Amino acid sequence: MSIKNNLKSVLDQINDKATLVAVSKTKPNEDLLEAYEAGQRIFGENKVQELTSKYESLPKDIEWHMIGHLQSNKVKYIAPFVSLIHGVDSIKLLKTIDKEGRKNDRKIPCLIQMHIAEEETKFGFTEQEIKELLTPELLAELEFVDIKGVMGMATFTNDEDQIRKEFAGLKTTFDRLSEDVFSDNPAFREISMGMSGDYNIAIEEGSTMVRVGSFIFGARNYH
Ligand SMILES: *Cc1c(COP(=O)(O)O)cnc(C)c1O
Repeated sequence: MSIKNNLKSVLDQINDKATLVAVSKTKPNEDLLEAYEAGQRIFGENKVQELTSKYESLPKDIEWHMIGHLQSNKVKYIAPFVSLIHGVDSIKLLKTIDKEGRKNDRKIPCLIQMHIAEEETKFGFTEQEIKELLTPELLAELEFVDIKGVMGMATFTNDEDQIRKEFAGLKTTFDRLSEDVFSDNPAFREISMGMSGDYNIAIEEGSTMVRVGSFIFGARNYH
């Protein structure tokens, strides 16, 4: 299968129910260009350096999403151009994004990462933490961040029932946060959940944005 055919097959399955972020981490520019030529414009990367170097060498109408864990001291490198930061997992990071947005005179779109997996290791907030930390005062202060929704990663397991339960939980949390913390923010409408192995389940459970890598570009080689 070619990248172009894989992309088409994913898009057919998504059937306009969610936005596709093509996760191109570790892949060479020519692979991204193949997807680009087939019409894909949204790409996701998880390393700041790789993201900036691909941004510099590839067409300027690509929307770049930062999907990985982001350290505060690296926000400045992507602040001028990034289209969406998926994994905002601390208030410190949110404040740094605001500061860098201000310097660049642009509101930076972000998703709040929620902890939905069983594993201790996954990053993210609990619903309770968001309710306590994201006070109206803090939200008013953050003039240069545009909080567009939530992101979550399910437990790494083959147990589909568990994955489904975690995605359904994120949807419920999103609904409660929309009514409560973000009731004044109509831009709060994205739920980024679902990867190559579970994006169909994620869409059934209300995902609006799926992050699909290996299904499109093939398995990754880490050296
Ligand atoms: C790598 C990655 C993906 C894509 O994973 P695949 O299984 O290759 O589709 C999605 N989300 C995040 C946060 C990732 O790091």
